[in-house]
Amino acid sequence: MIKYQHEAFKDFSLPQNAEAYQKGLATVEAYLGQDYPLIIGGERITTEDKIESYNPANKTQLVGRVSKASQELAEKAMQVADETFKTWKKVKPETRADVLFKAATIIRRRRFEFNALLTFEAGKTWVEADVETAECIDFLEYYGRQMLSMKDGRPVESRLDEYNRYDYIPLGVGVVISPWNFPFAIMGGTTAAAVVTGNTVLLKPASTTPVVAYKFVEVLEEAGLPAGVVNYIPGSGAEVGDYLVDHARTRFISFTGSRDVGLRINQRASVLNEGQIWLKRVIAEMGGKDTIVVDKEADLELAAQSIVKSAFGFSGQKCSACSRAVIVEDVYDEVVARLEELTKALSIGNPADYANFVGSVIDAAAYKKITEYIEIGKGEGRLLAGGNADDSVGYFVHPTVFADVSPEARIMKEEIFGPVLAIAKAKDFKEAIDIANNTEYGLTGAVITKNRTNLEYAREEFHVGNLYFNRGCTGAIVGYQPFGGFNMSGTDSKAGGPDYLTLHMQAKTTSEMF
Ligand code: GLU
Repeated sequence: MIKYQHEAFKDFSLPQNAEAYQKGLATVEAYLGQDYPLIIGGERITTEDKIESYNPANKTQLVGRVSKASQELAEKAMQVADETFKTWKKVKPETRADVLFKAATIIRRRRFEFNALLTFEAGKTWVEADVETAECIDFLEYYGRQMLSMKDGRPVESRLDEYNRYDYIPLGVGVVISPWNFPFAIMGGTTAAAVVTGNTVLLKPASTTPVVAYKFVEVLEEAGLPAGVVNYIPGSGAEVGDYLVDHARTRFISFTGSRDVGLRINQRASVLNEGQIWLKRVIAEMGGKDTIVVDKEADLELAAQSIVKSAFGFSGQKCSACSRAVIVEDVYDEVVARLEELTKALSIGNPADYANFVGSVIDAAAYKKITEYIEIGKGEGRLLAGGNADDSVGYFVHPTVFADVSPEARIMKEEIFGPVLAIAKAKDFKEAIDIANNTEYGLTGAVITKNRTNLEYAREEFHVGNLYFNRGCTGAIVGYQPFGGFNMSGTDSKAGGPDYLTLHMQAKTTSEMF
C-alpha cells in the first residue's frame, strides 16, 4: 500500500482545472432542486416534512429538498443500526478499510462535482471547496490506513507462562452530528472514523447542508458499504438530535458544532437512561476564538497576509478562523495599515465566480448574528474596513476589521463565526500571549516572529490545541496537523491524528496461561 500523503489541491490558474470546475457547476446545476429521501437500512424513506436547502449566495435557489426524520423514524434507524452492528463488527478491518479507500477513489473521480456542490450548498469559493473535498479524501485514506495499523491491537508484554494480547473492539451505535461549515470533510471524516472501526452510524447532518451528506452516503454504498451501517437521518436537533443523544442504545456521540450545543449534548449524554448499561462517549469539536500574535521581530508582510487569509477564508466561518490579531506596539501601526489595505482589496461576491475570495455566510440566522456583532464592534473599536452587509441576493457580509480593541471587549472574547477581525495592541510579546489566552476557548493560534526565545515561550504558554508558527491558523491537514482544541473548544479529540480512531473503540486485554 502506498504511504499516506495528503491530496494535492487543484491549481485553478490551469485552464483544464478551471474548465473542470465549470463542468462541475453545470453537473450540479442540472440536479438542483431534487428531492432526497432518508436512508435507513438501505431503504429510501420519503417523508411529508422536508428540510429545504438553499444556496446561501443566491437565496432563492433551491439546492435540494430533503426528507426530515421524526422520532419514530429515528427509532427505526436506531433499531436497524443496532441490529446491523452485530454483523458489521465481525467484518474484517481490512474489508472495512477497503470501503474507505474505494470511496476516496470515487470522490477523486467526482472531485469537481463535489467542489461545485459545496459552492452551491455552502457558499464555498472554488479554493475553499476544493480544499474541503481534498480533506474528505484525506480522512478516508488516512483512517483506512490507521485501522490497518491497529487491526492486531498494540503489543503488550507476556511472561514465560502466559500469552497476553491487547486488542481493539468496536463500541456500538454512534450518533454523528455534523456541521455545515465543513459539510463534506468533517461529516465524511467523522462518519468514516466510526465505520472503519466497526461501529454503525446514525448520521444527522446539519440542516443547512444535507444534500452533500446524502451524496456521500451514496458514495459509501457504491464503495460496498452494507445497508444499515450508515443511516442517513436529517432532522431537527430538538426532536431527533436529543432523542438519539438520550437513547439507551447510543454508545457514542461524535459531534462538531457550537459550544452551546456541545455542552448540551455532553450534559444529556451523561444521564443514565433506562436499559442503558454503559457510559456514553462524547467526542466534541466546538468553537474557537483564535488569535494570531505578531511580534516586533517578524516578517510583517507574512503577518498581514496570514491574518487576512485566516480571518476571511470562507468568510471566517471556521472554528479555526483568526478572529483576533494581537500585535506588539512597536509594529502595530505598520501591520494595521497593511491589514486595512489587504482587507479592502478582497473581492466579495458569488463564490461560483472564481474571481471572488469571499462568498456569502451560511444563512439568515448567521447573517443576523454577525451583523449584530458588527454593530457591537462599532462601539468597541475603530472600524478600519467593511462594516457593511447586503442580503438582497445572498447573505453577504463584507470582511470587517476593528482596530484598537480592548482585550476585554465582547468582540475579542465571544465567537462571532463570521468575517470579523478584532485587533488589539500589546506592550510586549508576553502580554500578547496573555491576551491570546484570555478566552474560554483554546483551539488554534499562530505566532509570527523570528525570535527563537519567543517561539519557545509560545510553545509552552500559548494554550491552544493547534499552534502554528510563522503561518496562518487555519488549514490543518489530515495526518500532518491533527486537529482539536482545549477548554470550551471541545474534547481535544484530534481529528486526522493517530489517536482519533481509538476514541471509537474499546480495548480488550486477554491473558492466557499455558
Ligand atoms: N480543520 C479546519 C482548519 O484547520 C477547521 C475545522 C472547523 O472549522 O471545524 O481550518
